[in-house]
Amino acid sequence: MKKIAILGSTGSIGTQTLEVVEQNKDMEVTALAAGSNIRLLEQQIRQFRPRLAAVWSEEKAKELRTAVADLDVQVEAGMDGLIAAATEASARIVVTAVVGMIGIRPTIAAIRAGKDIALANKETLVTAGHLIIPLVKEYGVRLLPVDSEHSAIFQCLNGEHGNRISKILLTASGGPFRGRTREQMKDIRVEDALKHPNWSMGQKITIDSSTMVNKGLEVMEAKWLFGVEMDQVQVVVQPQSVIHSMVEFEDGAVMAQLGTPDMKLPIQYALCYPERRLMGGERLDFRKLKEIRFEEPDFENFPGLSLAYEAGKTGGSLPTVFNAANERAVSMFLNRKIGYLTIVDIIESAMARHSVISAPSVDQILEAERETYDYIESRW
Ligand code: NAD
Ligand code: MG
Repeated sequence: MKKIAILGSTGSIGTQTLEVVEQNKDMEVTALAAGSNIRLLEQQIRQFRPRLAAVWSEEKAKELRTAVADLDVQVEAGMDGLIAAATEASARIVVTAVVGMIGIRPTIAAIRAGKDIALANKETLVTAGHLIIPLVKEYGVRLLPVDSEHSAIFQCLNGEHGNRISKILLTASGGPFRGRTREQMKDIRVEDALKHPNWSMGQKITIDSSTMVNKGLEVMEAKWLFGVEMDQVQVVVQPQSVIHSMVEFEDGAVMAQLGTPDMKLPIQYALCYPERRLMGGERLDFRKLKEIRFEEPDFENFPGLSLAYEAGKTGGSLPTVFNAANERAVSMFLNRKIGYLTIVDIIESAMARHSVISAPSVDQILEAERETYDYIESRW
C-alpha cells in the first residue's frame, strides 16, 4: 500500500489527488488537512478513512470532531494540526497542496520525519528553497514535482544520468490577458481574471497565472528543483498548453513532455514514480492539432515576471517579499479592495523598500513575510 498524507485536501490539487487515490487500489490516505471547508473534509474522511484530520481553526476542529464522532479519526487544529498531518507516522509520502507559504513549516517537518514530498505548494520552495533542498539531501527523501511544468522537466530528465542541462524552457499559456497592454488591463474585474483559458485551478494560482506571477514563481521553483541559475530558465509562451515544458542539453538536443492539460497526470506520476500507470481522459490527437505556436513573454506589460527574475537572482529574503506581497495583494484584489494592476505595483513597491537578508532562517522568512504584510497594510 502507498500511504499518503494530503495537506490541502479540499482544494483543486487536493481533490484531484483523491481522485487519483480512488483510481489506484494500492493507495491509502492516512492524513488529511484543510483550511475551513469541513463539510467537504467530513465527506473525504468518511470515504477515505484517514487516521488523522486537521483544520485551521480550533472552532472548526470542534465542529468536525462532533461530526465524525462515530469514526476512529483524530482531529487536530492550527499549525500543530497541519504538522501532525504532515508527519503522520504511517504515511510514506506527503502531498503538499496547501496554498501559500504557510506550507513551509509542515513541509520541513515532513522531510525531517523522513517522508517523500509530492510538491504542489510552490510558494514553500520559492521562499525557503535554500533550506528545503539541503534538508531533502540530508534526510535522503525524494522531492517529486507536481506542478505540471516541473513534472514535465523531471520527466525530460529521465534516463539522462546526470547529463548537464544547458537551459530549461518553461512553457506558459500567457493567461487570459496575453496580448493586452497595461492600459487595456486597468479595468479588469475579479471574474475576468478568474477565467483561465486551459486549466481549472484554485483562485490564487488562477490570478497568478493571469499576471504571469505564477510563471515567475515557477522560474524560482525550477531553479531550486533542478539546481540551475535563473538565467538558464527561459520562459516560452505556448498558448495551447500542449507542451508542458522542455529541457535543452549541452549538445543542443531538446526534450519535451506533451499531453492534454490534466493535473492528475503529474499527481499520479509523483505518487507512483518511476512507474507510469494507465490513466483515463483525453489524449492528444496530432491529426487535429494543426500547429503549436510560440511567443516571447511580454515583460513590459507583465512586469510581475521581471520582478520574479530580480527576486530569484538576488535571492535571500527577496523571494519571500515578492511572494508575500503577491499573496496579500491577490487576496486584496479578490476581496475587491484594490484594482488589478495594483497587484504587481504592490509587489514592486514592497521589494524596493526591503533590505535583503542572505540565507534567512525560517523565523527570518516569517519575519520578512510579516513586515511585508505590515507595510502593505500601512499603505493600501
Ligand atoms: P486551492 O485554493 O484550490 O486549495 C488550497 C487548499 O489549501 C485547500 O484545501 C484549503 O483548504 C487549504 N488551506 C488553505 N489555507 C490553509 C490553512 N491555513 N491550513 C490548512 N489548509 C489550508 O489551491 P490549489 O489550486 O489546489 O493550489 C494548491 C497549491 O498547488 C498552490 O501552491 C498552487 O500554486 C499549487 N499548484 C496548483 C495547481 C492547480 O492546478 N490547481 C497547479 C500547479 C501548482
Ligand atoms: Mg504550473
